[in-house]
Amino acid sequence: MDCIFCKIISGAIPSKPVYQDDRAFAFADISPQAPTHLLIVPREHIKSLDEANDKQELVGHLMSVAADLARKNGLAKGYRVVVNTGGHGGQTVDHLHVHLLGGRAMTWPPG
Ligand code: AMP
Ligand code: ZN
Repeated sequence: MDCIFCKIISGAIPSKPVYQDDRAFAFADISPQAPTHLLIVPREHIKSLDEANDKQELVGHLMSVAADLARKNGLAKGYRVVVNTGGHGGQTVDHLHVHLLGGRAMTWPPG
């Protein structure tokens, strides 16, 4: 499958991994939008959150990994978790991913 995140998980495309287990893989975003910007993805190819209705445990696991990584990266002041979904949501890679952003104060609303 021609999916950049599947290739990152398999190692075909290099990345900076920060965490992995049997269900999830996390790595540094190549274009960081904050001092800490990590992506947490399921090993399984799921196109978007919109395709994940029957994967509640897996989606919850991705969220728990994000919170663990926030703690490990010293984001005690707070952080933001984002799941861009579909065109209007700003999703550019069609493999479900959770952005973990931190290390600076975030603004609201997002663009
Ligand atoms: P989204 O726009 O929500 O679909 O997020 C996709 C994210 O993937 C963006 O923040 C990109 O910077 C990031 N990205 C794209 N290609 C790579 C790559 N090869 N390694 C790490 N991050 C990437
Ligand atoms: Zn994929």
